[in-house]
Amino acid sequence: MNQNANLFSALRAGFPADLDRVAIETADANVDTASLHYTWRDLDRGTAMLANLLASLDLPAGSRVAVQTEKSVEALMFYLAVLRAGLVYLPLNTAYQRDEIGYFIGNAEPAVVVCSPKHFGWVSRIAFAAGTTHVFTLGDDRSGSLLQRAAVHSDVHAPAVRGADDLAAILYTSGTTGRSKGAMLSHGNLLSNAQVLKTYWGWRPGDVLIHALPIFHVHGLFVASHGALLNGSKMIWLNKFEPKTVIAKLPEATVFMGVPTLYVRLLAEPGLTRAACATMRLFISGSAPLLIETFNLFRERSGHTILERYGMSETAMLTSNPYDASAGERRGGTVGFPLPGVGVRVVDDGGAPCPSGEIGNMQVTGPNVFQGYWRMPEKTAEEFTADGWFKTGDVGQIDARGYVTIVGRSKDLIISGGFNVYPAEIEGTLNDMAGVSESAVIGVPHPDFGEAVVAVVVARPGSSPDANALIAELKARLANFKVAKRVFVVGDLPRNAMGKVQKNLLREAHKGLFTA
Ligand code: AMP
Repeated sequence: MNQNANLFSALRAGFPADLDRVAIETADANVDTASLHYTWRDLDRGTAMLANLLASLDLPAGSRVAVQTEKSVEALMFYLAVLRAGLVYLPLNTAYQRDEIGYFIGNAEPAVVVCSPKHFGWVSRIAFAAGTTHVFTLGDDRSGSLLQRAAVHSDVHAPAVRGADDLAAILYTSGTTGRSKGAMLSHGNLLSNAQVLKTYWGWRPGDVLIHALPIFHVHGLFVASHGALLNGSKMIWLNKFEPKTVIAKLPEATVFMGVPTLYVRLLAEPGLTRAACATMRLFISGSAPLLIETFNLFRERSGHTILERYGMSETAMLTSNPYDASAGERRGGTVGFPLPGVGVRVVDDGGAPCPSGEIGNMQVTGPNVFQGYWRMPEKTAEEFTADGWFKTGDVGQIDARGYVTIVGRSKDLIISGGFNVYPAEIEGTLNDMAGVSESAVIGVPHPDFGEAVVAVVVARPGSSPDANALIAELKARLANFKVAKRVFVVGDLPRNAMGKVQKNLLREAHKGLFTA
């Protein structure tokens, strides 16, 4: 028989020989109990009991298991148990409300739903109406029916045999345009990516990861967790990111992964110093663009150069700045090189390759690229080219040395008076101006130009830049068609849990500016 391609088996093979060592240590400052220690044996036994519970339900092959719970070590164990049992894991953002959960459950038709005890009433009503047969609860304090039910099961379990193309997880995209789509990822997609990153980022014995990201998204669930598990590395686990706790734990750690906003919050702490970061080997950023200012400031304060990488739900990780200096420097503002085995190309709207340095649509290929959108064959067909490359929807460029730069999502591209306007260029110009901390540039309907450029700007603490003065400065620096017609100075930009600016909300708020 072929070797079992179950992702869990590969992760399990990464556990150290001494299973009594600590695998996960909790570090939440707001938890009144002392820090909890889970050994590798605990992970093995806990996931076996949960997998045996799932096996006892006798579910059809390919059944989905949807989970909307607060982050906890047990929630991670349950993810691993779903893999181990050979079922399909479907994580849901904890921020989703009734209508959204109704859509996901109706669309995915999970056999099992796990939710927070406090949401059992309404979640179970939605789930049972959609044909779900089992609803369990799991709190972030080990409460709920899931662990109670698992407790009576054996702590020995042989991982289900799965092929590399069998589904491991469905991640719903954030759906900022139209309905959210379920990206189907196979055991092979996820394992190949985890193995590539293990080598590329130089995971080594003795590494300790601070895990402070949510686990309903590709970054925290796959990149961070798989990295540590495959390497048999201890995790210092925070259910919620808390900058002071992270800084207090840095001296016990070597690797940290964050979205850009986490780095901004770390930088706001005086405790972030070179001394605090002395044991650290690697700081990684992704999921949203890292401002060059954050990149530079972090280097000054910590002595470390953040490694920025790029990926998405449909593909896991695609590109990374080099870890190894011999492969090149880590260049702020870029997302580095295509990972080994990953193809990245930039094409124009007709599909012809763009010369290096030119901006165009980014397409990718590789063993990490997903199997298609759940129950949306037409949408899947639209998003792949005839030669099998996935259209990421990102716009970017590759320079002569091979560094990839993301300019934005193609749907964020503004066409004003027939000219293409790339929001990232105007945002970069604005962010350079005195008194500006950050900005988001959007297009809104305009009777003459089709779309007009509008900028939403966040002031630096203590300054209050004048909107008209910013427009005048843009005029002095950029071609007229790129200049924002209106600038709004605000306290904050709307962001989702992964730190991405929600431009759809800004567009909605300002859509009537010129047409009302
Ligand atoms: P998601 O599927 O939620 O992970 O979102 C994926 C999208 O996030 C990508 O298609 C990019 O638009 C964006 N993204 C991820 N990493 C980066 C990065 N390092 N720089 C800029 N955009 C990024």
